Amino acid sequence: MTHPSDLAPLRSLIRTIPDFPEPGIKFRDITPLLADARGLTQALDALERSIEPASVDIVAAIEARGFLLAGALAQRLGAGVVPVRKPGKLPGPTLGVDYALEYGSDRLEMHVGAFASGSRVLVLDDLIATGGTAVACGELVERAGGQLIGFRFLIDLPALGGSALLAARGWGSHALLRY
Ligand code: AMP
Repeated sequence: MTHPSDLAPLRSLIRTIPDFPEPGIKFRDITPLLADARGLTQALDALERSIEPASVDIVAAIEARGFLLAGALAQRLGAGVVPVRKPGKLPGPTLGVDYALEYGSDRLEMHVGAFASGSRVLVLDDLIATGGTAVACGELVERAGGQLIGFRFLIDLPALGGSALLAARGWGSHALLRY
């Protein structure tokens, strides 16, 4: 696991935007990190180091910012990518789970048969806040017969309780930065 001080440069690439998308929300914007070649590589290196080699078949990527990291991480892990999307976006038959957000509520869907039953699945997103999104994705993976290997995020907001929620379910998670 990477020592937190090694990741200090990454923190400087996260931009905080107050009152977006609603008053009172401090939006942690990862786009400066994504746009910085060294920062992006460092983030992917740290995520890769946090995962046991050859332990993942599928990276389940949560729309939309999870998508931006999933292809690169999956390629490093020798895994495939499965998109987990907002309702009505996937063309084929889907499984769906409704969930609560830090702001509002939503639903996540995944294609039926997106991966073979028994596949070892890692869930990836940019950030965990209340954990509603991640838990919904974990439930989808398990309903689809996946073996949930764990969750990875760039950012955890521990005060909002999401990572504790995952731990309470016995699901392992790791984030590079905490705010
Ligand atoms: P939650 O379901 O509450 O854990 O929210 C996580 C999802 O909402 C992730 O897909 C994040 O991209 C997004 N999100 C929630 N809160 C924030 C925040 N403060 N800054 C950036 N993204 C957020």
